[in-house]
Amino acid sequence: GEVTAKAKELARGNYDIDFNGNYYYSEVTELSDALNHARIEISKADQMQKELIANVSHDFKTPLTMIKAYASMIQEISGDDPDKRKKHTQVIIDESDRLAMLVNDLLDLSRMQSGIVGFECAVFNLSEDVYSVAKRFDYLVETQGYQIEIDVEEDMYTLANRERVAQVLYNLIGNAVNYTGEDKKIFVRLKRRQEGLRFEVQDTGKGISAEEIPTIWERYYRSSETHKRPVRGSGLGLSIVKNILEKHNFDFGVFSEVGKGSVFYVTFP
Ligand code: ADP
Repeated sequence: GEVTAKAKELARGNYDIDFNGNYYYSEVTELSDALNHARIEISKADQMQKELIANVSHDFKTPLTMIKAYASMIQEISGDDPDKRKKHTQVIIDESDRLAMLVNDLLDLSRMQSGIVGFECAVFNLSEDVYSVAKRFDYLVETQGYQIEIDVEEDMYTLANRERVAQVLYNLIGNAVNYTGEDKKIFVRLKRRQEGLRFEVQDTGKGISAEEIPTIWERYYRSSETHKRPVRGSGLGLSIVKNILEKHNFDFGVFSEVGKGSVFYVTFP
């Protein structure tokens, strides 16, 4: 039959097939609708996969090129000069770190998406974790003039996967540090509200336009490649945040005003 022939085409990777048509049995019409829907979904997933591979390859290539160039340079030129050698080996170390971080983030994401990592939840003191994660950025406060204002209500407990929540907090605060304005100010808050425990991190940076907001949660989305950031990012930070919070079913989002800054929030139970 026609539907079967078309389904076979679809299986061969032709996503342009149209399953609509006038079929005799209502069941066949239903089946054709379902196949049409499948066709659209599969082709979207396929497109995303291709884009991801292109992006990942690109992100691997740059550090690899650097590592090779600097290794050659040491071999041919700077090997005997301790100062230059130190500078050049440092580039290799930094670029290797970048690669390692990228691989880690990719593995994390794929493990979460395939459901390999469990999401064991427990009750823990969220106030303590917000505080201690924010404190991990102290080296930037001490060395680069950042000001992280912490306003956390004490002893607020939540039920969640503690480790993953720490990762969410770290990624969101890290982004605020990366994208905040000239004043280098960041505000971290945790407050009890009617709907739950409201975590917020606010920066004074350039903000995110309304059109851009839906895209920032996607893997590998980056508004500007050239942005210089004090905390390293793989371009996967927010998609990891989204993944974790969706798994928990927690409410989260961002309010942002271009030129004024952004507030990322999460509501914990
Ligand atoms: P990365 O920061 O490594 O590029 P993320 O997934 O953490 O990757 O963020 C995706 C993009 O969202 C960033 O490249 C940036 O364009 C935007 N973004 C995230 N946080 C902020 C923020 N606080 N202010 C402005 N833009 C942001």
